Amino acid sequence: MSVKAEIADILTRLGVNSASYTSGSTKIISPVTGEEIASVADVSAADTSAAIDKAHEAFKVWRNVPAPRRGELVRLLGEELRAAKEDLGRIISIEVGKITSEGLGEIQEMIDICDFATGLSRQLYGLTIATERPGHRMMEQWHPVGVVGVISAFNFPAAVWSWNAALALVCGDTVVWKPSEKTPLISLACAAVFEKAAARFGDAPDGLLTLLIGDRAVGEVLVDHPKVPVISATGSTRMGREVGPRVAARFGRSILELGGNNAGIVCPSADQDMALAAIAFGAMGTAGQRCTSQRRTFVHDSIYDEFVPRLKAAYKSVTVGSPLTTDALVGPLIDARASDAMERALEQAKALGGTVTGGEKIDAGYPNAHYRRPAIVEMPVHAGIVCEETFAPVLFVMRYTDLDDAIEKQNAVGAGLSSTIFTLDMREAEQFLSVAGSDCGIANVNIGTSGAEIGGAFGGEKETGGGRESGSDAWKAYMRRATNTINYSRELPLAQGVSFDIA
Ligand code: NAD
Repeated sequence: MSVKAEIADILTRLGVNSASYTSGSTKIISPVTGEEIASVADVSAADTSAAIDKAHEAFKVWRNVPAPRRGELVRLLGEELRAAKEDLGRIISIEVGKITSEGLGEIQEMIDICDFATGLSRQLYGLTIATERPGHRMMEQWHPVGVVGVISAFNFPAAVWSWNAALALVCGDTVVWKPSEKTPLISLACAAVFEKAAARFGDAPDGLLTLLIGDRAVGEVLVDHPKVPVISATGSTRMGREVGPRVAARFGRSILELGGNNAGIVCPSADQDMALAAIAFGAMGTAGQRCTSQRRTFVHDSIYDEFVPRLKAAYKSVTVGSPLTTDALVGPLIDARASDAMERALEQAKALGGTVTGGEKIDAGYPNAHYRRPAIVEMPVHAGIVCEETFAPVLFVMRYTDLDDAIEKQNAVGAGLSSTIFTLDMREAEQFLSVAGSDCGIANVNIGTSGAEIGGAFGGEKETGGGRESGSDAWKAYMRRATNTINYSRELPLAQGVSFDIA
């Protein structure tokens, strides 16, 4: 069966209307084979606005549904995702090029966030706060905020939506989703799965989830719309620089999840086998196309000549090929632009004195697809292209002698998403996690930079945008806080002892 026929088969099984992926003018290409697998139609600006209005009306109904009942819808969504896991994972492999376990892993992450959000629906707690006035009570309430606009990137085309949607829905919000123009098929599938959950739920208002297929122009309508109080945008730092100020200009709230340039430090005491395995997955997994992919590694001078040759051997041994027909560990890059960007990064690194191992194009049997062997680049300097995110499997490796200096260099880039240290020395580990340590939103010890669990808040600082999604108290960004003071006395004392006696 051709890939095109297979995807149509899966989408039909999931209940997606075939007109939505066969009748448009935007061609969708599988990065695995380079062939056209579907065509979709972009939604117009007028239809986008109308959809947002409808989502706003749905919000007025949904906000009144008790939160634990809203949690029931998300619990059902989790059940439907469990039932559709194999199909959804396969779509991700076809549309993004992820290997089977990573495609399935992305769906598992969605199931996990549904479980988390279901429990959360009974834990949207506010505080009771001591007041300075007798006979008064002060408290905080968290109320639903409105329509949440979700703009997602190609590389986590389903999970990012679910991190946002599961929380937003239990918080009483409705969701309008603009997926990446590169991955509309998995979003059509997710919307169909959501509809099954909504049908089982029974009385879900129409307009709880709206999918807007289109490019950045559709995203811009969402970003500027006054009835969308929260925009959660995941993608490049370039995108965030455009979206952030536009949302701020209308006093909206943005949750920005942008690029990363994640580093690891391998210390003299490191468990080298563990570090090797973690870096191999962190840097080569998902063909280096995770926001948390490891892109820089600082190895202590005393172990460099032992560790780096082993790392290079691992790079040479890794299998690159189709995730659909082989058990390769590294699949294709998303498109020609990504492959060209990798080529350019390697050239720039060489110009700075870098020594490249790997990085060459691989003939995987599909002339229109873009397969490359992951590259490891030994760098004499921490400068230039090393300090930028190249969204491809390129790992820069540098020597260090002083941990303070290594931490300073790891922090000396624009992005601040994920970081790790490999050490068995408790002092080094604690220094890395301390106020003067890693400046990233995620700082790990003895695990890789990628592969976060949903229980923690996910996101990063600086040019990564500062947003937090998923676990911990990230839900607060999807609600509005009201501070309430109730006077049950017979007096009206003013705060701070102010008197204002009217005659
Ligand atoms: P991208 O920035 O090209 O596109 C992301 C999304 O933003 C797409 O849906 C796109 O249509 C939309 N968009 C672009 N410009 C816009 C604008 N001006 N207004 C409104 N919408 C706009 O990113 P990509 O290539 O799809 O994804 C890769 C990037 O995403 C990498 O930089 C990666 O690090 C980052 N990423 C970050 C996270 C995170 O959680 N921090 C997660 C995944 C990916």
